[in-house]
Amino acid sequence: MEGEHRLSPSSWNRFETCPRMHWLSRQGLPRKTGMAAALGTAVHASIEDLLNLDLADRPRASMGWLPEEGERLLRDRWTEEKAAFHATPRHPRWKEERWSEALDGQRGGIDLLLRWVGVQGLAHDRVTVALWSRVQERVLVVEGEVISRDGRLGGRVDLLLEEVADDGTTTAWVVADLKTGRAPEGDLKPEVDRQLRFYRDILMANNPDAPAVRAEGWYTMDRTTWVASKDGVLEDAYLAWEATIPSEAPAEATPGESSCGGFCDWKAWCPHWLRWRQDEGRLDDGEFRDAVVRVVARPKGSSTVQAERQVFDAEGRLGDGGGRLSVTFTGSSIDRLDALMEQDAAGPIFLGSALARGTDWRIGHWCDVLAWSPIPDA
Ligand code: SF4
Repeated sequence: MEGEHRLSPSSWNRFETCPRMHWLSRQGLPRKTGMAAALGTAVHASIEDLLNLDLADRPRASMGWLPEEGERLLRDRWTEEKAAFHATPRHPRWKEERWSEALDGQRGGIDLLLRWVGVQGLAHDRVTVALWSRVQERVLVVEGEVISRDGRLGGRVDLLLEEVADDGTTTAWVVADLKTGRAPEGDLKPEVDRQLRFYRDILMANNPDAPAVRAEGWYTMDRTTWVASKDGVLEDAYLAWEATIPSEAPAEATPGESSCGGFCDWKAWCPHWLRWRQDEGRLDDGEFRDAVVRVVARPKGSSTVQAERQVFDAEGRLGDGGGRLSVTFTGSSIDRLDALMEQDAAGPIFLGSALARGTDWRIGHWCDVLAWSPIPDA
């Protein structure tokens, strides 16, 4: 099993946030997705398609083709992502209205690539086949695997670019990771910085004769590029590889604001976040709340139920005691409630991101409605 184990930057980030989060993500539990991830994947893939486009048969001077071709490729990828989104067990509502954001993300990526070959502010319908071919020539790898020689560390880089001097000699390789989210304010986020250095350092270790290698985050939204910091990460990456070797026993949980308080998709299977919130006296924090409830009354045909919030008692048993709520289910969340009630009408239910107004809570397409089934520590 050890031989097959490979650490990617995203699994490393999960592990650093909370080892139990990483462990739970490997247990085959129902996956979750969101609109930002789907939009990002569609934009990435469409830019990669543009870079792989075969332009051999087109006249070198022709213009006006790029906006149309870009939109066609993005539409194909958008449709593909939409199907994958709906096939993912836990997903909110698909927001078709974010198409224009995706289009802008793709345009941002094109602007960054044009800037890479020294062209700025050129309208996309003025880009000739010859100019785009120049962009393509300066991209060494599109969506390529970068794996350490021992196979333990690896992942996929969006782009590996060649930096050349005026005389045509190669001065550097640049790993560019396209980012469709908000650009940093000040510094790269530590997890993004770590991811970029991970790829850079594997490339350098695998290619001792390579020119200088740098890694950059390319933010399509505001067309900015950010260089990763200098320190090497491979030593830490191998320690993380060791610590993440698959095990049957659940890994350590590190509940807290930066772990449970951020995004963790696995709360319904983790016994620790509720304990942490309860012990910290923070069950009622925030407008959007996670909770474990038990439905105690559901008027026939109604989508509003009376529920008892579940908390741990002094012996560590889960039970009533967190207070009575009136919870209204809307849209697709009603079906999820019905399915759970059919399975076990009195069972504990995990509600993720419920909109709380005092004791009146609202559950919508954005919420998790899952059977509360924590995997015990041992
Ligand atoms: S809920 Fe908190 S403690 Fe549990 S896995 Fe997620 S981040 Fe870790």
